[in-house]
Amino acid sequence: MNILNKFSRLTSSIVLKAVDLFSSPIYLYDEQSIISNCNALQSMPNAYGLTTRYAMKANSCRSILQIINKQGFQFDASSMNEIRRAHLAGIEYKKIILTTQEVPIAAERQELEYMIMQGLKYNVCSLRQLYLIGDFASKNNVNLAIRVHPGIGSGESATRNTGDNYSCFGIHLSNIEQAIGYAEKEGISFDHVHVHIGSGADSEVWRNNIDLELCILEKYFPKANTISFGGGLKVSRMPDEKTADIQELGEYAKRKIIQFYQKTGRKLKMEIEPGTYVVANSGYAVTQVIDKKKTGNDGLNFIIVNGGMEINARPLLYASRHPFYIISKDGSLLSSEFAEDISTYDFKAAIVGRCCESGDSQCLDREGVSIPRKMAEPDIGDIVVIGAVGAYCSSMTPMNYNSQLQISEILFTQNGELKEIRKKQTLEQLVANEI
Ligand SMILES: *Cc1c(COP(=O)(O)O)cnc(C)c1O
Repeated sequence: MNILNKFSRLTSSIVLKAVDLFSSPIYLYDEQSIISNCNALQSMPNAYGLTTRYAMKANSCRSILQIINKQGFQFDASSMNEIRRAHLAGIEYKKIILTTQEVPIAAERQELEYMIMQGLKYNVCSLRQLYLIGDFASKNNVNLAIRVHPGIGSGESATRNTGDNYSCFGIHLSNIEQAIGYAEKEGISFDHVHVHIGSGADSEVWRNNIDLELCILEKYFPKANTISFGGGLKVSRMPDEKTADIQELGEYAKRKIIQFYQKTGRKLKMEIEPGTYVVANSGYAVTQVIDKKKTGNDGLNFIIVNGGMEINARPLLYASRHPFYIISKDGSLLSSEFAEDISTYDFKAAIVGRCCESGDSQCLDREGVSIPRKMAEPDIGDIVVIGAVGAYCSSMTPMNYNSQLQISEILFTQNGELKEIRKKQTLEQLVANEI
C-alpha cells in the first residue's frame, strides 16, 4: 500500500502527481480529512447545543476557510485583518467573533462598529478594550463576550500556554470585579463567557477548566447564555502522541452543564474553538532532496531539502516533531513514520532546509539540537513529505527568510482532483514595497 498514513487518502502517487503538476516545494491539503475533522468536532456530546468555531489563525487560506464554512462552522478571528480576510472569503460578520490583543482606534474603530452592527461578536480581552467599546455597546444595546484569564493554563510548551500568569490573554480573574463594576455602571451585558487556556492542552487541565469556568460564570455573569471552552484540543502529529478524546471531553462538559442547569435553572450553550484539531493533520509539506552531507563518523547524516523553516517553523519554535514520508522519484513510498516497520530501518538522518541557520532543521529538540530520525535513505531528487503541517505553518512562518518565496498551496479535493488554491509568491511581489 502506498497510502501515507491511516488518517488520509493521500498516496505516494498522488504526491508525485502534485510535484509533476506544480513542482516542489508545495503545501498539500487533504480536503476529505478537514471535513472528517469538522464532523468529529460537531459530534461532540453537549447538553443544550454546541457551536463549533474555527480559530482561523491556524490556517487562513481562503479555500480552507470556505471548506470549513461549508461544514457549518463559525470563526474566531485574532485581528481586524483576519475578519476582513474571512469576509473576503464570503463569511458573514455574524459568524465571526473577534478575540484580539489589538485595540481598534480611529478609522479601525469606525470599521469595527460597522462590523458589530452587522453581527460580529466582540470578545472583550482587556479592561482598556472594555472602556473603549463600552459607550458604543451600551448606546446600541450590543451584548459583549468576555475573555476571562483564569490564571491556570496548559499547552505543549510555555509559549503555547495562554491561561497561566505568565501569559497575558483576557481579563485576569483579579480584575473581573473591576470589569463587572464598569459594565454595570454603563449598562453593558456579557452574554458570552470565553476562556482559552492554550494550544495542545492537557486533557486534565481542559476538564478542570470546565469546572472553573462554570464557577466564574455563575458567580459573575448572570446574563450569560453561552460558555466557550476555547480551543487547544490536542492532536497526535506523531504515532506516539495522543489526540484529545472529543467524546470523553464532551461527555464531561455535558454532565457539568446539566448540573449547572439543575443548580441555577440556566441552560448554557457550549462553544469550542479549535484551530489545530481542524487542520493540523490535513496538511503536508512536499519537498525534494537537493543535497546530502555527513559530519564525520561520530556526526550526523543530513538530508537537505528545498524547503525548511520558511515552510514549517514549528520544530524551531516549539521543538515539535512532524512525521516524515520518503517517496522515490517513481512514486513508491519508501518509508513512513506511521508504518510499523519504521523501527527496522538502519539509516538515520536529520531533515534540514536551505537557510543559512542551524535552526533550519525539521528535527530539533528543545535545546535546538538536531536529533536524527529513522527513515529510508533518499536519493537526490526523491521526495520528502513533512506531515501535520496544516496548522500554524503556512500562516505562521518566517516565510521570506533568505529571500525564499512563499510557496504555493494545493488542495487534494474530495473528488480526487489536485487544485491550486494559492499561487507561489513571485520575486516582484517580494520586493514590491521596497523604495
Ligand atoms: C489560537 C486560538 C485558538 C485555537 O487554538 P488551537 O490550539 O489551534 O486549537 C482558539 N481560541 C483562541 C482565542 C485562540 O487564540
